[in-house]
Amino acid sequence: MLDIQGKVIAITGASSGIGEATARVLAKAGAHIVIGARRADRLDRLAEEIALDGGSVLTKKLDVTDRKDVSSFVNLAVSEFGRLNVMINNAGVMPLSPMDALLVDEWDRMVDVNIKGVLYGIAAALPIMKQQESGQIINVSSIGGHTVSPTAAVYCATKFAVRAISDGLRQENDKIRVTVISPGTTTSELADTISDPIARDAMKGFRAVTISPEAIANSILYAISQPAEVDVSEIIIRPTASP
Ligand code: NDP
Repeated sequence: MLDIQGKVIAITGASSGIGEATARVLAKAGAHIVIGARRADRLDRLAEEIALDGGSVLTKKLDVTDRKDVSSFVNLAVSEFGRLNVMINNAGVMPLSPMDALLVDEWDRMVDVNIKGVLYGIAAALPIMKQQESGQIINVSSIGGHTVSPTAAVYCATKFAVRAISDGLRQENDKIRVTVISPGTTTSELADTISDPIARDAMKGFRAVTISPEAIANSILYAISQPAEVDVSEIIIRPTASP
């Protein structure tokens, strides 16, 4: 098994999909995990299952668009375990629509969660990692952070931003590892919030072939388990149609 024993890892957006799978995989591999999202009931159920399986887990209700919330989420990890080894900024939303539908509130929500949420996570974790002179920040971008497709202009813009922010952060910090995870279409609840009918229809074809959230979680485990002097800068991971 890849070695991450005893690492203290905070994960945003852990109530479903990739975040949930990552929590399970990292706890199983021996990390202390702190998980946050808005749906506290889902976090509590997940934590019960992880604890029953022998894992070390804490939960905190968290809205990543609230800077104070993100700060107290990270502080919980430090007050309980005395350090923060890895911050995983995973929370994200994807209410896709054509631009001329002018769903401006949904654009705002994507910017707030997908960009500002990641920035708040960095703002909370960076001073701690600077003081420790070590740490790893993992930001979840997307294939949509590399290419744009119709109905996804704003979502892709947020994911391009995640890659730009991560690159800048890496260039400014030689003691902190910065990793971008860019998944292709993954089985999760991400498309459930699409309210626009054109985008919802387009998604059906797009999501015909998906990869499991566990596969993405395993790529995160790989990046964390590398030796301290190895920074896995980005992992792009796509599904195949293989059974
Ligand atoms: P899910 O919808 O299953 O999970 C999204 C998670 O984000 C949930 O736990 C949700 O929890 C959380 N979240 C949303 N808004 C907030 C908020 N304001 N504060 C805190 N948590 C929030 O989707 P995925 O697992 O697929 O998405 C995880 C990440 O992966 C996202 O960044 C997404 O963009 C990215 N991604 C996903 C792909 C896919 O095909 N699924 C492909 C490429 C990237 P709650 O609602 O309880 O707050």
